[in-house]
Amino acid sequence: MDTVSLSGKELAAAINADTKARAATLATGGPAPRLALVVANDDPASAWYVNSLRKAAERLGITCDTVELGADASAEAIRAELDARSADSATDAIMLQTPLPAGIGLDDVSSSIAATKDVDGVSPLSLGLLASNLDGFVPATSEAVVELLKHHEIPLAGRHVAVVGRSNIVGKPLAQLLLAENATVTVAHSRTTDLPSVTSAADIVVAAAGRIDLVTGKHIGEAAVVVDVGTNEAPDGKIVGDVEADSVRGKAAALSPVPGGVGPVTTALLMRHVVTAAENARRA
Ligand code: NAD
Repeated sequence: MDTVSLSGKELAAAINADTKARAATLATGGPAPRLALVVANDDPASAWYVNSLRKAAERLGITCDTVELGADASAEAIRAELDARSADSATDAIMLQTPLPAGIGLDDVSSSIAATKDVDGVSPLSLGLLASNLDGFVPATSEAVVELLKHHEIPLAGRHVAVVGRSNIVGKPLAQLLLAENATVTVAHSRTTDLPSVTSAADIVVAAAGRIDLVTGKHIGEAAVVVDVGTNEAPDGKIVGDVEADSVRGKAAALSPVPGGVGPVTTALLMRHVVTAAENARRA
């Protein structure tokens, strides 16, 4: 079987064109939309991601402040920065970069991000709104998976989707979004026994575990659609996903590439959220 590549580049470009126009409109009547990127680590992969977000923001006419708190920042210091940015009328959007310093979980600090500025939907309030099917910012990676599938005209209603990964910022919100699309959802995780039997029963498999080569040809059914969310650094320094593409290609109907699949759509949606937050703030 020819496996279709679920590229995210075309979709990301279309979202970005719209975002750029909206940012330009905002900047004619006042300041450009402003994103605060709060960083409390010295992780090279995070630095690479922060840099790519800064460049994306710049290309789209969004001002980006990077706030470096240091890898030994305390939870109090992180919360204080998030509280200050939440109260600052010049800041439209806030994103807290992970990983956080050892011993500090996202849940320990994320409630300090105002829901109106929480463009990656990580705060308990944003996640609760999503679980209740109410309006709020949705975690961009989870939204990117759904948007990528829709862009490639893959139906979701009534289909069985297996999500591998149950984190608060990817797997769990993705399960909620898929339920809202009327999919039948199974969430697998590190304690799932017999992962291949769970995933091979699904029409669509989303790998979001952060484990290189976790999903192989034996994990998927014939003609399944496979979305690879993983962004892992291989020993040779390359960014690779969670899917062993060689064994999946030829068996799957479609597979999203890494890089070039979920990643560019995630960044595009984050920037769209920044502009939406700024538009909402100007209206308020
Ligand atoms: P996480 O470490 O918080 O969660 C990983 C999840 O995978 C956990 O729920 C765990 O139970 C599950 N898991 C781990 N090993 C497993 C196994 N052997 N079998 C089944 N499940 C297993 O990670 P995260 O923040 O949810 O991110 C997941 C992946 O997505 C990472 O590779 C991350 O880099 C990537 N990511 C990509 C984007 C993007 O835009 N493409 C954005 C965010 C995260």
